[in-house]
Amino acid sequence: MSKIHIVSNRLPYSVNHDGKNFELIESVGGLATGLKSVYTRYNGKWIGWSGVNSDSIDEEQRAEIDLALEEKSCSAVYLSEKEILEYYEGFSNGTIWPLFHYFNQYVSYNANHWETYKNVNQLFANKVLEVCEDGDTVWIHDYQLLLVPEMIKKIKPKVTIGFFLHIPFPSFEVFRILPWRMELMNGMLGADLIGFHIYDYERHFISCVRRLLGYEVSFNQIHADDRIVIADAFPMGIDYQKFHEASTEIMHKTIQERSDLYKELEKYFLASPDRQLVLSIDRLDYTKGIPHRLRAFARFMEKYPEFRGKVTLIMLAVPSRNQVEEYQKLKSEVDELVGNINGSYGDINYSPIWYFYRSLPFDNLVELYNSSDVALITPVRDGMNLVAKEYVASRITHTGVLILSEMAGVAKEMGEAIIINPNNEDEIADALKQALTMPVEEQKARISNMQERIQRYSVFKWANDFVERIDKVKTVQNDFLAKKISSAVYANIKMKYKKAGKRAIFLDYDGTLTSFHKNPQNAIPNDELFDILNKLISDPQNIVTIISGRDRYTLEKWFKDVPINLICEHGVWLKKQGQEWDTITAVNNDWMPMIRPTLERFVDRTPGTFIEEKNYSLVWHYRKAEQDQSEIRANELKDELRGLTGNLNLEIMEGSKVIEVKNGGVNKGIAAMHFIKNEQLDFIMAIGDDWTDEFMFKELPNDAYTIKVGIKHTAAKYKVENVEAVRSFLKGLAD
Ligand code: UDP
Repeated sequence: MSKIHIVSNRLPYSVNHDGKNFELIESVGGLATGLKSVYTRYNGKWIGWSGVNSDSIDEEQRAEIDLALEEKSCSAVYLSEKEILEYYEGFSNGTIWPLFHYFNQYVSYNANHWETYKNVNQLFANKVLEVCEDGDTVWIHDYQLLLVPEMIKKIKPKVTIGFFLHIPFPSFEVFRILPWRMELMNGMLGADLIGFHIYDYERHFISCVRRLLGYEVSFNQIHADDRIVIADAFPMGIDYQKFHEASTEIMHKTIQERSDLYKELEKYFLASPDRQLVLSIDRLDYTKGIPHRLRAFARFMEKYPEFRGKVTLIMLAVPSRNQVEEYQKLKSEVDELVGNINGSYGDINYSPIWYFYRSLPFDNLVELYNSSDVALITPVRDGMNLVAKEYVASRITHTGVLILSEMAGVAKEMGEAIIINPNNEDEIADALKQALTMPVEEQKARISNMQERIQRYSVFKWANDFVERIDKVKTVQNDFLAKKISSAVYANIKMKYKKAGKRAIFLDYDGTLTSFHKNPQNAIPNDELFDILNKLISDPQNIVTIISGRDRYTLEKWFKDVPINLICEHGVWLKKQGQEWDTITAVNNDWMPMIRPTLERFVDRTPGTFIEEKNYSLVWHYRKAEQDQSEIRANELKDELRGLTGNLNLEIMEGSKVIEVKNGGVNKGIAAMHFIKNEQLDFIMAIGDDWTDEFMFKELPNDAYTIKVGIKHTAAKYKVENVEAVRSFLKGLAD
């Protein structure tokens, strides 16, 4: 069985080192547990930094640490103090972290940090390359290692690579700010599967791929040169059982067994029956919206004074990155706000806020989750937010209310929470009131629904899902590779071509013989194409036909000097070389005035789109329009047209950036068959790139060579990558 290796900035063990001795301390976080289950099951290694500053140990100590880690199937990357400063604190936390969380004002642009980031990513990649073999899978994690996928793929293309980003991926307008955006993009695209917490981040990533690199994207499949990369959303879960069981256990402890913290909490509630606790837990990070939350809490005390003396906010702020200036400033701001609020609304018996600046052990955390009536989670930007899920998992009585920022990835899964905008203090104050007065039945209904969901999609399910998806990506890639014309297939086609007496060759025009242009009228054939076609035609055994969706006047004009057959408007018009234009069926245009107003409405609503009226069809073009918007509109239009065209024997065809409505009973397949019906042929070949060519691929006889241009799913037997590949293929045949 092939192995799965995990790569992340930190190993799941940290090395505690006092200069002489060391010990390994196992990380018990949910993510580490979830991933451990993967790499142990698949006999892989975990590659990462052990937390040791390599300047502080000698060779012998390093060997000793390596040996201890080896026993845990871990392989350590060693980083010097300078590397930690520049790669981790510098580029990862000082550049990518703020930018990806939309804190542009905090982004540092330091070329040295970037250089070190590249070098350290290379160190990680080298370590991975030492342990992985062809056929293995490597799963790389997070923003510290964005370049590693490409670094591995370059050296070992047969290793399958998954990448998961644990923070948001920003919109193109933000990502483009970065001077090193191309390198980071290409780095990530070295992976075969790229995972994000939610669809929004995936959407932003795909939009960056399109805009920065211009790769073709079909749904979530990216055609990166000659590889398919898939982007997908996998909302990370928690170890639900662990929280639920710990919380149950705490509830059943005797008074003597209870922790000091739990006793204090009980005392608080015993003091008065109508007391309530609001909980907030996060790392002290500017993305978490802590000052906003405090101001909103003050607003709540102001707006609803009846809760003064009864409601306390427990705020646990875990120290984080406290060497960095922005974090120090944030700490001062939070200290001051807490002081002000407690000074303004508290008295000798009552503190509105209990503020802890430290981290707490697991059991204490669960006690807090277990005892708090409301969880107030209001980040201004957060990739996921696990605290929200942990709170819900710990509510064994099913009571409790979650107030959640819409800017946290987790909000997409927690529709039953009270969702707020973290910048809206009034809304948060109102949400607090709603939460603190919510009927128990309603609380139970909401919490139960959320529990069911997060129990199902635990961190283990998440990890399994990702791994299974990597396998499916391989199937998609293999499907593409299986159909891609290999040199052996090419040699066979060429041999059959040479031996054949009479041959029919059908060639689609746009996207097959010529690349797309923003303005379709500019996609004129060039000399190279004329040369290729003339060479094919000069062989009297060849019947060469251009089979296109274009109108007949354009094609007749462009190919007036070439003795070639033409089929236009998807099969409506046919012209054999030296003969007049002909049609297969009698078609009429009575339907056009009924359909045209709908298309016009879409043109009005979608800048950059236009209508083309062909002899027997109407076409809505959206190549020039803003991509994301026009694709949504295209789907809407298709939907509306389907409703309208039901009784009219019309066909709605989706081409490349066009939606075309035309008479039914005519298509490229019918036309091509009509063209060759009286011919004795030994060799039939059809090449095309879009949906309309699929009719040809399906209708032509079984032994025809049908070739699709691009990555999309097809009925054709073979695939080629792009227009250049088609041209060189045809050149080779004609020679
Ligand atoms: N946490 C902890 N000790 C603490 C406070 C929090 O271990 O004293 C954990 C908490 O249980 C959660 C994690 O820290 O699993 C925070 O994850 P989250 O996704 O909410 O935020 P992040 O810090 O990753 O941005």
